[in-house]
Parts: sequence; structure tokens; C-alpha cells
Amino acid sequence: MELKKSYLESHPDENGFFGKFGGAFIPPQLEKPFNEITQAYNKLSKSHDYISELRSIRKHYQGRPTPIYYCKNLSEFVGGGQIYLKREDLNHTGAHKLNHCMAEGLLAKYLGKKKLIAETGAGQHGVALATAAAYFGLECEIHMGEVDIKKEYPNVVRMQILGAKVVPATHGLKTLKEAVDSAFEAYLKDTDTQMFAIGSVVGPHPFPKMVRDFQSIVGFEAREQFIDMTGNLPDMVAACVGGGSNAMGIFSGFIEDPVKLYGVEPMGKGDKIGEHSASLTYGKEGVMHGFNSIMLSNENGEPAPVHSIGSGIDYPSIGPEHAYLNSIGRTNIGHCNDEESVDAFFKLSQHEGIIPALESAHAVAFAMQYAAQNPNESILVNLSGRGDKDIDFVVENYDIPKK
Ligand SMILES: *Cc1c(COP(=O)(O)O)cnc(C)c1O
Repeated sequence: MELKKSYLESHPDENGFFGKFGGAFIPPQLEKPFNEITQAYNKLSKSHDYISELRSIRKHYQGRPTPIYYCKNLSEFVGGGQIYLKREDLNHTGAHKLNHCMAEGLLAKYLGKKKLIAETGAGQHGVALATAAAYFGLECEIHMGEVDIKKEYPNVVRMQILGAKVVPATHGLKTLKEAVDSAFEAYLKDTDTQMFAIGSVVGPHPFPKMVRDFQSIVGFEAREQFIDMTGNLPDMVAACVGGGSNAMGIFSGFIEDPVKLYGVEPMGKGDKIGEHSASLTYGKEGVMHGFNSIMLSNENGEPAPVHSIGSGIDYPSIGPEHAYLNSIGRTNIGHCNDEESVDAFFKLSQHEGIIPALESAHAVAFAMQYAAQNPNESILVNLSGRGDKDIDFVVENYDIPKK
């Protein structure tokens, strides 16, 4: 217990660095508001009122703790190791993102802010943040590339139903990068009444630390539940990685334990730039979106185009803590491509009655391969979200297999 405290408490350092990764590479105008968030967080994360209010929200509004589930049928089908799921798909709104969005909303409330502001790619962070804003009675403004608005229209409507304003980013390629620029620009106009809320363990300090801390509930619950259920620790824990928040959440619970940790990267449809979003596998060191990490970049050092069938994991960089943990050998990289993800989507649905998000299906697919090769091991997968949002896309593009 003491040891576990020591890793999470000593990483990142006070400037937000995990080894050489992380930090805050931001324009001078942003330094003051980001320092304000850091100081407020340092204080509130030790405050009894803040902690007990967050605990109550998690229990009564989000539905935590989420259960651990043993996949008896799927494990038998694979015929190897035993597969377990941490059911983050059972969170309110159907994914892990609300774990940090509610905590960010509560922080904004304690800081006396009136509006939450953020960018979104596929719209999932936008929906979770709009939910938190409705709960706390805050305004919400989500910046989204015009191209993504067309592609992910159901999420745009969801945000609007929840009372958020969706602002299209109309310059450049009109996708995530432009949405980030546009959101920062709007935030800079008024940092007194607005709070910026990042959607993963990425961005400038303090967000990689804060979001990890907010997600660590997943790992702390899972560790206790797993020991309760089986009497032991799992041998291996796997999670899909986009920015890396659901993975850091579950890893946090096991970071000091003799447990193998696998972050599963999306291999998309090939190994050329633009065909995948496996940042740690193919990337190199660089600064993007305000932090130093391993990223996929073009010749000019700009973010490269990326692809994954899981729209929440097609991100050209990775949270700095993942870059660090991988560099010191504490975590491993797993892989899964689009086809394998769709296969796991159907397998988990047909063998267990659980339809996973295509992002989460990456971790399930990897766990199935790993289980086949490691018959004596127990494997815990973070099932980051449910697949309802992916159903239309899957049935339009794939035949439903016979069981
Ligand atoms: C957004 C999302 C992800 C990817 O985000 P991380 O920060 O990498 O966890 C994974 N799964 C689901 C269901 C998501 O909505």
C-alpha cells in the first residue's frame, strides 16, 4: 500500500514531467490560468469536502462501483487463460470518460467558474462533458472540426440535447487539431469564468496527472474486486490506448504489483503513416498539444494523419505517462487492427451478451490472443465503453457472423 502511494504521488514531478515526457509547452498567456488550475487541484485533491462530494456523485449518479465480470463462455471458447472484464461500459453515459468529466466539472464548480470549454474529436468527450455541465448547472461550449461534425452527427445532437453549444472549427483540415486551436482561442478570451477540460491523460500539465488521478478509481476498485473474486491478483491487465486515460486508470491500481500491463494500440488497416494510430509503436519524441511525448508526425513535425475504426483512439500522440512507463519497461505494447477489433466486437456480443465499443474491442481482441498463448494466466481487460454508438457503422460495413 505504501509503495503504491509512492509511485502515484511522486509521478509526475512538480512541473508535470514523467521522466522527460510531459510538461506544459503553452503560450505565455496560458501560464497563469493553468497554474491556477494546478494549485486548485493540489489543494482540492486533499480536501474532505471535494473528495466526499465526488464519492457521492460516483455512487449515486454514475453508478459506481462498476462490477468485475468473469467471461466463462469466452474463456472456454478461446481455450486458454481466463478472461475478466472491468465493466466501465456500465458507467452512466456508457463509458469511462464520465469518471474524469464529473471530477473536472466539480473542480470548475469549486473554482466558481461558469462555463466548461473543450475540444472533441469523435464527440465522446464532448458528450461526457456536456453531461457533467448539465449536472453542475454550468454552461458548456464544445469545439469540433466541421468534418467531424458531419461524420459524428449523433454525438453533436446528443451534446445539443444536453444543453451544450457546439462550435464548428472551420479552418485547415477541419478536424481535431483545428478544434484544439479553436477551443484554446475561445478559452483565452476569458480565463476567469471559463474552465478548460481536457478529455484524456494528454495536454499540458496538470491534465495528464489530474485525469489519471480521476480515472485511478477504476484500478483501485478493480484490484480489490479481483482479489475478492479470485483470491489473487491478475497476471495481466490490458486496456486500449488512444490518449490513454482508461488504460492509466486501470494501470494505477496495479502499478506497484507484479502484474503485466499492456496498452493496446490501434493498428488500423496497415503500417503506413495514415493507416493506423499506433503512436508508441511507430512514433518519435515530439511536442504536440502542449506536452512532450511520443507522436506520429510528418516531415514538418506536425501531427500526422491517423486512422482507427475506433474513433476514440485515433489520436496521433499518447499521454506522457504511457511514454514514460513504456520507456522504463514497466508497460508493454499490444496490438489490434480494425478487422480483429470487429471480430472481438461480435465474439464478446455472441458469447457473453455484452456489445463492446470498438475501442474497447481492441483490448478484448488482444486479450483473446494473449489468453490462447498463455493458458495458465488470468487476464483483466478494461472494457472502457459499450458499443451502442458503433452498431450502425458495424452493420453497414460487416456481415453479422453466425455464432
Ligand atoms: C474515448 C474512448 C477511449 C479512448 O480514450 P483513452 O483516453 O485512451 O482511454 C476508449 N474507449 C472508449 C469507449 C472511449 O469513449
